[in-house]
Amino acid sequence: MTNLEIAMTRTWAEIDLDALEGNVRSLKGLLKPGVKSLAVVKADAYGHGIVEVARKLETCGVDMLAVAYVMAAVTLRKNGIKLPILCLGQSAPSLAPLMWEYDVTQAVGDLENGLALSRAASAAGRTIKIHVKVDTGMGRIGFYWPESGWEAVADEMATLCRLPGLEAEGLFSHFANADGDPEYTRMQMAKFAAARQALADRGVTFRLGHIAASLGVLRYPEAHLDMGRFGLVLYGYASSDEEVESPAELKPVMTLKARIAAVRELPKGAKIGYGGTAVLKRDSVLAVLPTGYADGYPRALSNRMSVYIHDRLCPVVGRVCMDMFMADVTDVPGVRAGDEAVLLDGRLMLKAALAGHTIIHELLSCIMPRVPRVFIEKGEKRL
Ligand SMILES: *Cc1c(COP(=O)(O)O)cnc(C)c1O
Repeated sequence: MTNLEIAMTRTWAEIDLDALEGNVRSLKGLLKPGVKSLAVVKADAYGHGIVEVARKLETCGVDMLAVAYVMAAVTLRKNGIKLPILCLGQSAPSLAPLMWEYDVTQAVGDLENGLALSRAASAAGRTIKIHVKVDTGMGRIGFYWPESGWEAVADEMATLCRLPGLEAEGLFSHFANADGDPEYTRMQMAKFAAARQALADRGVTFRLGHIAASLGVLRYPEAHLDMGRFGLVLYGYASSDEEVESPAELKPVMTLKARIAAVRELPKGAKIGYGGTAVLKRDSVLAVLPTGYADGYPRALSNRMSVYIHDRLCPVVGRVCMDMFMADVTDVPGVRAGDEAVLLDGRLMLKAALAGHTIIHELLSCIMPRVPRVFIEKGEKRL
């Protein structure tokens, strides 16, 4: 038996790299010529497998990758990835040597952090590339840009950019509500433009200004600036929690599948699963799926979601356990142990996010490492 065959005996995630390529092409088509594209591969590429996804992205002509922490960038470098990599999270200054050794571009959101990186780099005679983060309304990291009295903030940012051992390549910010209040988003854009201008007035210019993530790119062409940051859209979804029309053609990349472990006939009145939360209303046939919340199939979906078996929707019955759950296949003839079930895909993902009171970002990024990723490229499956 091959490892690929073994991987597909229980629960696995199929990752369609051809769909990923199509999404990149379609998204790049939304950007004006000359506008760069950054692909966000944090959280193991939203659960899709960071190394394989980054390799594919490198062949698709994206200009930069982004990760959440320095060691993720190191993993990419050790696997031969050559693209520029931006670390979006602020990092401990003790990691400075990794930044120059592995050519990691680091986000810096305050002067204290920048000073520490500068000291480390200049003492070693090295340079760290940075993107300066400005907080225009997210309230997370970055130099907070106030409505008034911003001159002192601009001075601090200019000081950061002139520190020895640092090369300030970019200025960036992040929308807090790109899928909601347009007024707030426009205020953030205005603050970003003001910050960039104030820095220019102080003689500091940036090669790359960027503010728009997926929904910002889709909804606000005027926010593309020098680079769009593609996250969720890369993986095929134009919204994390609602049905929307997308200006780009997107195809979901991940399909979570499982092979039915057992098919059981149980009588009317039987209680199913922990807590007996489901009681059969008729004599039923249940498929036992070898997938649980420890695979990343949320327990919140207990009794509230369906899966596809033989291409028919089958409701989840009872609570999702750590490693298994049950689905009702009474109305689907001929279901056998060993048949494939589709647990999450383009048809089910949004429904699952809503039923689980979460967002697609969380569903994708919580598919656990124990679920093998099976990559599909040019129709071929491989590990
Ligand atoms: C996660 C993240 C992104 C990507 O977000 P999506 O909504 O998935 O596009 C972009 N920029 C920053 C700073 C992020 O943290």
